[in-house]
Amino acid sequence: MTDTPLDFGDPADLDRLRREFRAWLAEHPLPERQSGEPVPVFLRRWHRLLHSGGWVGLDVPERYGGRGLTALHQVAISDELGACRAPGVPRIGYLAHALLEFGSEEQRLRFLPRMLAGDEVWCQGFSEPGAGSDLAGMSTFAERHDDHYTVRGQKLWTSYAQYSGLCLLLARTDRAAPAHKSISAFVLPLDRPGVTVRPLRAANGDDEFCELFLDDVRVEESERVGAEGVGWALAMTTVSYERNALDTGHISKYGLLVERLRRHAAERHGGLPDGLLSRIGRCVVDYEVLVAHARRRTAERLAGQVAGPESSVDKLLMTRTEQRLYDTALEVFPDELAGEGGELFGDYLYSRAASVYGGTSQIQRNIIAKRILHLPSNG
Ligand SMILES: Cc1cc2nc3c(=O)[nH]c(=O)nc-3n(C[C@H](O)[C@H](O)[C@H](O)COP(=O)(O)OP(=O)(O)OC[C@H]3O[C@@H](n4cnc5c(N)ncnc54)[C@H](O)[C@@H]3O)c2cc1C
Repeated sequence: MTDTPLDFGDPADLDRLRREFRAWLAEHPLPERQSGEPVPVFLRRWHRLLHSGGWVGLDVPERYGGRGLTALHQVAISDELGACRAPGVPRIGYLAHALLEFGSEEQRLRFLPRMLAGDEVWCQGFSEPGAGSDLAGMSTFAERHDDHYTVRGQKLWTSYAQYSGLCLLLARTDRAAPAHKSISAFVLPLDRPGVTVRPLRAANGDDEFCELFLDDVRVEESERVGAEGVGWALAMTTVSYERNALDTGHISKYGLLVERLRRHAAERHGGLPDGLLSRIGRCVVDYEVLVAHARRRTAERLAGQVAGPESSVDKLLMTRTEQRLYDTALEVFPDELAGEGGELFGDYLYSRAASVYGGTSQIQRNIIAKRILHLPSNG
């Protein structure tokens, strides 16, 4: 295990939780992924196993199926998972927060326990062919009738929709209102008539992404999450959590690699090619800066601050740290690049996506410029 850079608060309490989790992990190791088993199916097995031990949704209130602890407890467990290179629970953190903050009590009671248990798998239907960065420009429309809506449109890049039962869907509900007040959110069961899910095969052979075609799909009013028009605020809350390195276990995973590079540099001090030592140094600095930010963000969350535009800073730092780290690691350990399919090479490939998912790096810079620095726009 790495040092535990995120521990503050009551160290004895967190230390107890971490030790309890390590003991549980020793008895319930990460299962083997079976040959040909799709990633989400494997992750669901792992998710259910973690849940059976009480290790999912630590910061979710008990009445919704969580453990009613704090964000710090959840972060400590995500950190432990990253430190032993075990995957976390996909998407739960930010989708659960969207329901906690915007869902009705009935929706929270209905959906959260089953989401946390892995009994119902969710996907996120936000992006569209013409509306990724410009999410506000989405054209999927939910037309209001007395007690229901009919939804028409198309979503794109919906990760693992083919393995999901429910989708947190964004659709416009008002053609006249300004974009940020005209979007609403819905829980859409994917087996509804009129829904077509079409997986897309990516260049690396994975079928993570899907297209979602919505052809006059009936959605009940009771399936709308929050009031009409709050979809934009819900989306911003969701992606703020998605942009946060804390819940993902990324930090401790990066920490392992930073340590490996540091050791390599110490051993080969005189014998590294020009510039490589300073590139390793940059990785160490990036990592330390990210850890400092993560600590600050955790403290703010514990003080009750809701995730906001500051998460764009975290996302940029996380992306920079991850991409520089894997670029440098492949330079230092080229044999692992030759062994395509190896763990480091797989992580290197996926690090390319960090500057796109959850909003691209350019969009994070725009958010920082507008919402944090209040710079004038030049267009
Ligand atoms: C691994 C992965 C998983 C994903 N999973 C999901 C999912 O489950 N659900 C979902 O809804 N979406 C998902 N996405 C989609 C993701 O949110 C979008 O890809 C992202 O928001 C960018 O949108 P786009 O691909 O349409 O690119 P575009 O918006 O077309 O952008 C293309 C390029 O133009 C730049 N650009 C665009 N507008 C501006 C601007 N105003 N200023 C400066 N530069 C600009 C962008 O930075 C980018 O470099 C996923 C993406 C990835 C990579």
